[in-house]
Amino acid sequence: MAEQLLEEGDFDFVGLARGHLADPDFVAKAKAGRDDLIRKCIGCMECFRILNDGLPLGCTLNPVLGREFEWGDEKLVKNGAGRTIAVIGRGPAGMEAALTLAKRCFKVVLFECADKLGGTANLAAIPPNKQMINEFVDTMTAQLKEAGVEVRLNTPATVDLIKQTGAEAVFMAAGGKAVRPNIPGIEKAVTAEDLLAGRAEICGETVAVIGGGVTGLETAEWLAPSHKVTVVEMLDKVGGNLYPSVVLHLATEIMKAGGQICKGHALVSVNDGSVTVKDMKSQETAEIPADSVVLAMGVRPERPLEAELKAEFGDRLILVGDSDRTGQIYDALHSAHDRAFVYCAR
Ligand SMILES: Cc1cc2nc3c(=O)[nH]c(=O)nc-3n(C[C@H](O)[C@H](O)[C@H](O)COP(=O)(O)OP(=O)(O)OC[C@H]3O[C@@H](n4cnc5c(N)ncnc54)[C@H](O)[C@@H]3O)c2cc1C
Repeated sequence: MAEQLLEEGDFDFVGLARGHLADPDFVAKAKAGRDDLIRKCIGCMECFRILNDGLPLGCTLNPVLGREFEWGDEKLVKNGAGRTIAVIGRGPAGMEAALTLAKRCFKVVLFECADKLGGTANLAAIPPNKQMINEFVDTMTAQLKEAGVEVRLNTPATVDLIKQTGAEAVFMAAGGKAVRPNIPGIEKAVTAEDLLAGRAEICGETVAVIGGGVTGLETAEWLAPSHKVTVVEMLDKVGGNLYPSVVLHLATEIMKAGGQICKGHALVSVNDGSVTVKDMKSQETAEIPADSVVLAMGVRPERPLEAELKAEFGDRLILVGDSDRTGQIYDALHSAHDRAFVYCAR
C-alpha cells in the first residue's frame, strides 16, 4: 500500500513509529514482499506504560527491544545441531519458544490440543478494537512455517508422543486456567474465557462481570451494547497495569452504553437474579441485579503431565508463559524467548 502511494507520487516518504519497535525489520521485510512476516504493532500501549514508569523501552511483541546487545538474534548460540525439543501449547509463549529454538538450530515439534493456532490470544482478539491480535497470530504462524517448526494440531501432548519425537527437553507452554473461587452459587457463573470461546452462554438482560482487569473490562465492553453490565472489582481501581488512556477508553465505552463500574467491592455470593457484594472498607453488603454472572478473576498456571514429564526430563522440563506465571502476552513472549535463548547455550 505505502509502496504504491510512493510510486504514484501521492507521498514523498512514509514514516513508521511504534511499528518499528514491534519489528525493527519492518522495512526490509516489506521490501522483500514478506508482509506476512512483519510483527505489526497491536496498539496495546505497553511501550508508553513502560516508559511512563521510567523503565527501559519494551514492547509486547518484541521481547528483544531495549536489550538487543544481550538478547538480540546476533547473540543466539546456534548449537542445536538438529536435536529435538518438544513444545506443549501453541499460544504466544509456545510459538515464541519454538521460534527462538528453531533459530538456534533445534528441531522443534509443537503439540497443540486445539484445532486452531494462537491459544488464548484468539480470545483476546474478540472484544472491540482488538482484531490486530489476529494479525499477530497470523504472523507468528508464518514465522513458524518459515523456520520449519513441525506443528501438530488437534494433538494433546502425551509422554509417549513426546518420547517418540526423541526430544531431549520439553518446553511447557500450556497456558492457564480461569480462577473459580469457592463462593456460594459460583457454579451458576460462567468464565469470560468460556463465554468468548462460545463454550458458554449468558441469559437475561443484567450481567455482573466479576473482576475489573483487562479481561473483565474488555468482556464488559463487548457485552455492554446488548446488556446492562456491572463490573465488580475489589480493588479501588480497575485496569490493573494497563496504560491509563486504555483504562479510560474502556471505562468510557462501558458507561456510555449504560454499564456501571463498582470498585472496592468483593463478590460474596451468586444468587438467582443477583450477586451479593461486600464493601471492602465498611464490610457492608449490597445486592446487584444479575441475570448472568461472568467471572474474570484471573487465571492460574496449567501444567498438564507435570509430574510425569519431570520424572522423564528433570530440569529439562521448562515452564514458559502462563504455565509458569500468568500475565499478559508481553510476559508470555519475554519468558518464552529468554528461556529458549539460554537453554543449553553454554
Ligand atoms: C479475554 C482475554 C483478553 C486478553 N487480552 C489481552 C490483551 O489485550 N493483551 C495481552 O497482552 N494479553 C491479553 N490476554 C492474556 C493473553 O491472552 C495471555 O497472557 C497469553 O495468551 C498467554 O500465552 P500462553 O502461550 O502462555 O498461553 P495460552 O495462550 O493460553 O496458550 C496455551 C496453549 O496450550 C494449549 N494446551 C494446553 N494443554 C495442552 C496439552 N496438554 N497439549 C497440547 N496443547 C495444550 C492450549 O490449547 C493453548 O493453545 C487476554 C486474555 C483473555 C482471556
